[in-house]
Amino acid sequence: ADAPRPPRVVLLASPGAGHLIPLAGLARRLADHHGVAPTLVTFADLEHPDARSAVLSSLPASVATATLPAVPLDDLPADAGLERTLFEVVHRSLPNLRALLRSAPAPLAALVPDFFCAAALPVAAELGVPGYVFVPTSLAALSLMRRTVELHDGAAAGEQRVLPDPLELPGGVSLRNAEVPRGFRDSTAPVYGQLLATGRLYRLAAGFLANTFYELEPAAVEEFKKAAERGTFPPAYPVGPFVRSSSDEAGESACLEWLDLQPAGSVVFVSFGSAGMLSVEQTRELAAGLEMSGHRFLWVVRMPSFNGESFAFGKGAGDEDDRRVDDDPLAWLPDGFLERTSGRGLAVAAWAPQVRVLSHPATAAFVSHCGWNSTLESVAAGVPMIAWPLHAEQSLNAVVLEESVGVAVRPRSWEEDDVVGGAVMRRGEIAAAVREVMEGEKGRVVRRRARELKLAAGRVWSPEGSSRRVLEEVAGKWKAAATTHK
Ligand code: UDP
Repeated sequence: ADAPRPPRVVLLASPGAGHLIPLAGLARRLADHHGVAPTLVTFADLEHPDARSAVLSSLPASVATATLPAVPLDDLPADAGLERTLFEVVHRSLPNLRALLRSAPAPLAALVPDFFCAAALPVAAELGVPGYVFVPTSLAALSLMRRTVELHDGAAAGEQRVLPDPLELPGGVSLRNAEVPRGFRDSTAPVYGQLLATGRLYRLAAGFLANTFYELEPAAVEEFKKAAERGTFPPAYPVGPFVRSSSDEAGESACLEWLDLQPAGSVVFVSFGSAGMLSVEQTRELAAGLEMSGHRFLWVVRMPSFNGESFAFGKGAGDEDDRRVDDDPLAWLPDGFLERTSGRGLAVAAWAPQVRVLSHPATAAFVSHCGWNSTLESVAAGVPMIAWPLHAEQSLNAVVLEESVGVAVRPRSWEEDDVVGGAVMRRGEIAAAVREVMEGEKGRVVRRRARELKLAAGRVWSPEGSSRRVLEEVAGKWKAAATTHK
């Protein structure tokens, strides 16, 4: 008899390298270990063409790729913003997606759009195939989405409902209103309506494939199981972590050479993701805090923000051209700071090879904005965090990492709402948090937990590993469906 044909699965990555990298990791796993024939579909570039082609060209031949043609966007207002633009691109591309899916040679077993492409779920339904939403952030963040959708079940049109304050999330996480991502706070804002509509679309999905792993968020996984049994939300499958490997980054860099000269486990790495920014005053306080802590540090310094924003939209990870090389962020550091800390601290402008830095033996702790990719990279490297969220769902991730996962500490002033809301964090708090992780009692606990989680993350892909088993369970459903289609 013929060997069964591998089921064909289309994965759809929303524009932006940050979303593409983990989805490409999933595609590669499906092909190499689960007998699935994946096609990774991307959108024509909005920006950063180099970042996308770098990811696509690193894929093995077992992962097919396709690109949806560009759609006209010239009618959008100039200030439409990244999120609105993304949603428009996805929406306007649906006819092209439909055509691409219909023209395929073999029958499709599933469609896997990432969380920004949920608008593709009805297309999957039309074609009679299950849709699985890829979630590139924490399951805790998806829990917030689920709670928001459930909150409005049975509500009359126009009726306002608000999440409880504090909001209790799985794993003993208690989220104050100020820590809830901004878009979920005000049910009268237009963005809230969009989020709610997206969350309702998620209910069309057969499940979620989440870039996390069971041992990291067990309570959230169990809660999704219960919701699926109640029939209020699809089940979530933890199939990660998909993180870049250090071989994807250049091996030569001044900061790696500098790290080579530092004692093992002595350096605090400070970085706020691909786009995080601090105000001028906050940059100064951070410098003074690092100096006060007395510890060694490697700090990726960005140009300060002058407009109160903590995030430079549209600056994609890995794209050299877009970073303004003519501005010198180091010029914004306090007078004499570099001289006084010379030898025990290194400040680098704009960018560092983060995966290599985190896995370097000299690195001991990570002052992080808690973006999910950075979080997973830190966990995979066994490095505890000092959580300093700036934007989006980072505040939620920070609470989860401290209260539930136990791999981070937050500076004490996070207990004050004005600091959560963006007030300046003072140097004494910063120094105390660094010392706590490096030498304190709580630090001992988070350091031990970080070592445990590193081991757990290293086991998820072994034959009996949690993510491998979960992904095989999902792939098994696809294979069964592909067989009946023949
Ligand atoms: N990154 C890096 N060097 C830097 C800053 C960021 O390599 O100096 C990478 C980091 O390793 C991670 C990504 O950029 O893979 C940032 O993703 P994350 O989800 O943490 O945050 P975002 O940039 O989306 O806020």
